[in-house]
Amino acid sequence: MKTTNATPLKFWCDIIGHKYVVSKEVTSHVKEYTCKCCKKQLTTNSNGNLTELTPKFKEINSLLEEIYIRRTLRHKAKKLSAPMY
Ligand SMILES: [Zn+2]
Repeated sequence: MKTTNATPLKFWCDIIGHKYVVSKEVTSHVKEYTCKCCKKQLTTNSNGNLTELTPKFKEINSLLEEIYIRRTLRHKAKKLSAPMY
């Protein structure tokens, strides 16, 4: 017998607060957080504050991530091709 426990967990979140864990590191200063209890998601916005992870923010984050990865890869490639003295 399985009952849905989403409501009591949400209830706990309201009382003791959400238990956020980093679910994704988008860039070195933009991260996505997920509440371990109710799965509510937050993200760092452009002001450095935490805000609800809406589909719009997900889109922004995936773009940011792409740019960040590309920049990191280019940086690594530069390092590798640099002449050794
Ligand atoms: Zn929660």
